[in-house]
Amino acid sequence: MESQVQPKLIIHGGAGSSLHGKGGLEAVRRSLYTVVEEVYALLLSGATASEAVLQGCQMLEDNPRFNAGTGSVLQSDGQIRMSASLMDGALGRFSGVINISRVKNPIELAQFLQNSPDRVLSDFGSAELAREMQIPSYNALTDLRLQEWIQERQDNFKSTMAGVVAEPELLETSNAGRGTIGVVALDASGRLAAGTSTGGKGFERIGRVSDSAMPAGNYATCNAGVSCTGIGEDIIDECLAARIVVRVTDGMSLKDAMQRSLGEAHQNKRDLGAIALDASGAIAWGKTSEILLAAYHDGEKIGDTLEWNDSELTGYC
Ligand code: ASP
Repeated sequence: MESQVQPKLIIHGGAGSSLHGKGGLEAVRRSLYTVVEEVYALLLSGATASEAVLQGCQMLEDNPRFNAGTGSVLQSDGQIRMSASLMDGALGRFSGVINISRVKNPIELAQFLQNSPDRVLSDFGSAELAREMQIPSYNALTDLRLQEWIQERQDNFKSTMAGVVAEPELLETSNAGRGTIGVVALDASGRLAAGTSTGGKGFERIGRVSDSAMPAGNYATCNAGVSCTGIGEDIIDECLAARIVVRVTDGMSLKDAMQRSLGEAHQNKRDLGAIALDASGAIAWGKTSEILLAAYHDGEKIGDTLEWNDSELTGYC
């Protein structure tokens, strides 16, 4: 019989520049808490870490506020291409889809691929898989993302990324931001899993590949799990998720691994954020960007990083 541990959960809805007012912040908090409450209850009822990650990612993908699934940002040609990955830490198995269009939940395909000999598919292959799985065609476009794209087009795509969350007030200033979603869970049997899903950074070149379906942006072993957000190229250059997990595997505490890795990312002038759990139940997060939209359940209560001040790059509980 596997020993019972206290489940832990941390989720994110992207990292980026400020939320433009309290209205945005409270709405984002409510959205994140709804997911934490539901997914944590699932973990308490005996769901595996991978099942919890799947459920959390689906809920976040379905919320048009976040840049994943419904509400994904548009690429330079006005099309949506999404990427998602799942890593089951207990199995040590990564799977994902890259630049898939016209499906509601890219994470579902990533989950399906967990049991396939071919575990990461790009655009054409993932569309074929969606057809084989008989997933209905779905248009993830929202009016806000379309308006955002039109505004950016008029501005010659000067922003490095699309808005962190789809809030009408963000469109007024069209500030560059980041947005993506991620979930890391520790289940009652001590298994870890991490999932990440994104519409990309927005306005990118056709064929650009996001970190979200790479071990640089989403990684888990039996020791730790990490999901990243921010400028994908920066996350890839730091190989951030795998870097944090490997440090923990080599004996560093999660707190130190997060601190060291985010310190290096800061020094290298990267623009990113990460959430993490380890097998002992430690929770950690970090960012070099202005804000990180994360919320967690530590077994007793829900907390978040929405009003976390900038003096520290990392936080724990
Ligand atoms: N990391 C994602 C990407 O670059 C974007 C994000 O996190 O918002 O595709």
